[in-house]
Formats: sequence, structure tokens, C-alpha cells
Amino acid sequence: MGLFTAQRFSDGDRLDVAGCPVRLKVDGRARRVSLRVDRARSEVVAQAPTPRRLSEAVAFAHEKSAWIAGQLAALPSRISVAPGGVLRLYDTAYRLEVGPGRTRKEDGRLIAPDDANWGMRILRLAKREALTVLTERTIVHAAALNRPTPTIAVADPKARWGSCRPARPGTPAAIRYSWRLILAPAAVADYVAAHECAHLIEANHGPRFWALCHQLVGDPAPHRAWLRAHAAELHAISP
Ligand SMILES: [Zn+2]
Repeated sequence: MGLFTAQRFSDGDRLDVAGCPVRLKVDGRARRVSLRVDRARSEVVAQAPTPRRLSEAVAFAHEKSAWIAGQLAALPSRISVAPGGVLRLYDTAYRLEVGPGRTRKEDGRLIAPDDANWGMRILRLAKREALTVLTERTIVHAAALNRPTPTIAVADPKARWGSCRPARPGTPAAIRYSWRLILAPAAVADYVAAHECAHLIEANHGPRFWALCHQLVGDPAPHRAWLRAHAAELHAISP
């Protein structure tokens, strides 16, 4: 047996292919090896139907290294917030400013004092705003489904917009959102809140789950498409 065929790869392995990050993935529903771009993580996923065929996916990634480099080069890398710029929160555009006093939202402006942490303070304000808005929407959707309000938190996960841990005896359900949803259109953020609340009843993505989403916010398809198309952009926003 040659060295190459003896090499074993596992689901989740990360490789460097001609200077680009490639993650290996086993997907039992796939029929053949394939490549796709994970825009949120700025990496390429090489997928195979079985662990045995991961080496085939690796060979394919090497063969397509020029395509991989081109795809990753086209992703936005970092979008800095800056004084004089605009940040859109939940469908409202705020002008970003430097000013004395505490960091605040005032008359269509986000204002933070002039120091090295200015950008960080502005984004922390956006995070607080995200928690407020997503809490409001979660309360509305949970009530519409006759479920008690879960505990709600925001974080900065790279791979998902929300997650829902169902209630257990003595522990209420818990929903965690990406704070970056506040940077998306309000209808999109609201869809994610509805999606996670639907998980309070259906802990899966089956037809009954999607029927609940539909009942809460209408057709989820355009919102899901928006998130796929803009994931890299939302994750690129930084201090
Ligand atoms: Zn889900």
C-alpha cells in the first residue's frame, strides 16, 4: 500500500491546501465528494459521504486549489466601525460619533468617548441592543406558542445564529443568539427568534417545526437566504 492511500483523515480535520484553510466533513447524505465555501468561518469545506472517502475529498481539494484561493480571496475580511461611519441596527441607521460622557444611543447616533476602546464600546452597545431586541421578540414568539419565556443570552458564535436548549425538570429552556443578528434586517432577526422559539416545541427541523416557524413569521426561505448571503459580512464587522 502506498503512503497516500494509507493516510487517514477524520471528520472535522483542518488542512492547509496551498495556503488556504480547508475543513473535512463527513455527510452521510452526500453521494460524492464536493467542495463548498463556509462564508461565516472563511474556510472551504471538503465533504465526503463516508470517512473512508475523505482522502478522495482531500485529493479533490488539492486539484481545485486555485478555485479555493479565488473563493476565499473574494470574502470580506474585516469591516471596521469608525467615527463618521454608519451602523445599521435593527433597520435603523445610526451615525457613529466620538463624544464625551458614557457610551450611548442618542438621536440616531451611537456615541462613545475618544479612547483606544472606542470601536469596542460601540460594538458592546450594539450587543446590549441585540439582547434587548431579541429578548422582546423571544417573549412575543414564546407567548404565541404558549410556552414560558426561556432564559435568553447573546454571544458571538461563528457557525450559528441561535441555539435552543429545551427545558428540563427544574431548569427552564435556554436560547442563545448571535449578537450580530442586530446588524441584520429586523425581519431576519425576528425570523431567527421565531426559529429558536419553535424549537421550544419541536427539537428538530421536521415538517411540524417548519409549520410553527411559518405560523410565527411566514415563509422562512427569504430570511434563511439573506443569512447565507450575508454571513461573512456580518462576521467581518469588528472594532
Ligand atoms: Zn434550528
